[in-house]
Amino acid sequence: SKQIELASRPDGKPTMENFRENTVEVAAIKDGEFLVKNEWMSVDPYMRGRMKQGDSYVPAFEIDEPLEGGCVGKVVESRHDDFHEGDYVLGNLGWREYWKSTGEGVNRIDPQSAPVQAYLGVLGLTGMTAWVGLSKIAKLQSGQTVFVSAASGAVGSIACQLAKAKGCRVIGSAGKSEKIQWLHKQAGIKSVINYKETDDLVGKLKEFAPEGIDVYFDNVGGDHLEAAIEVINDFGVCIECGMISTYNATEPPAAPRNLFKVIGKRIRMQGFIVRDHMDDQDEFRREMAPLIQSEQIVWEETITDGLQNAPAAFIGLFEGSNLGKQLVRVG
Ligand code: NDP
Repeated sequence: SKQIELASRPDGKPTMENFRENTVEVAAIKDGEFLVKNEWMSVDPYMRGRMKQGDSYVPAFEIDEPLEGGCVGKVVESRHDDFHEGDYVLGNLGWREYWKSTGEGVNRIDPQSAPVQAYLGVLGLTGMTAWVGLSKIAKLQSGQTVFVSAASGAVGSIACQLAKAKGCRVIGSAGKSEKIQWLHKQAGIKSVINYKETDDLVGKLKEFAPEGIDVYFDNVGGDHLEAAIEVINDFGVCIECGMISTYNATEPPAAPRNLFKVIGKRIRMQGFIVRDHMDDQDEFRREMAPLIQSEQIVWEETITDGLQNAPAAFIGLFEGSNLGKQLVRVG
């Protein structure tokens, strides 16, 4: 079975040298086990945190060991009572072709109800991250003005549309004109800032939201967070989902330099981790289903073919290569 291992820990932006492809034997399955062949895997910005040594909310990847992450595969052999050959499953052992399991932490998925890879995206943790942030953390109300950064990305694109469906005014930011076009045309988001074409994010936000913003869904941190703090209204909420602009930093970032305004404006800043909210999964699916059916929520996938190309797909996240959810088709 082919797998991608961590060859070395990155210093700054990851490079291809940090990864190594290897082929290993997969031992025969025992009673109570099944074998899965991965078809899809997810590459995610948080994996950058796992590539460094030290404290994070998830344990570090080990050198010379395969990386891990969300994946969807098919059971190809089984000696397990509940998982049968041909079943599609959602697991956490991406970055390899085959994996064995006793079923712990693995969920069966229904290939009839949606394309299986959607369970890594809009119907999976990605969609749920957007929903948890807005519903549970911001407790979003209709009529509020919401700013979403990395708005055309996997989480951001769903967050924008969820906020719009709730009856909010939405402003997004993204770094490429094709992404801006997608947000306009497919996602129906009129106010979008190309942050790479302006050095005045605050000015742009004021232009689109003269009354200020109420909620900032932060995927980027740094200068975006600084700009949001500048234009957010009193008692506004910053939902701290991610800070991708800082993940490859070798020095602590300078921005937000205006953090003290959190006090005067009585801003609530709250970080969250989607995995703490797994008990709300049913509620999430119930709320998403009609929105998907009515096409109030659409989604995009950027598909990279071949396990060997997973490192490049991952590195691409930090270069803005993806529109919507970045996936790797393993087979
Ligand atoms: P995305 O699909 O949004 O991919 C990353 C995107 O971020 C890129 O396409 C790029 O788009 C943008 N980006 C990259 N570098 C920068 C930069 N320096 N400044 C501004 N934008 C940048 O990834 P996800 O949707 O998977 O993740 C989005 C965020 O959500 C991440 O910060 C991630 O860590 C976080 N997250 C948090 C979770 C939680 O439980 N708290 C769970 C899942 C994700 P562009 O072209 O627009 O620059």
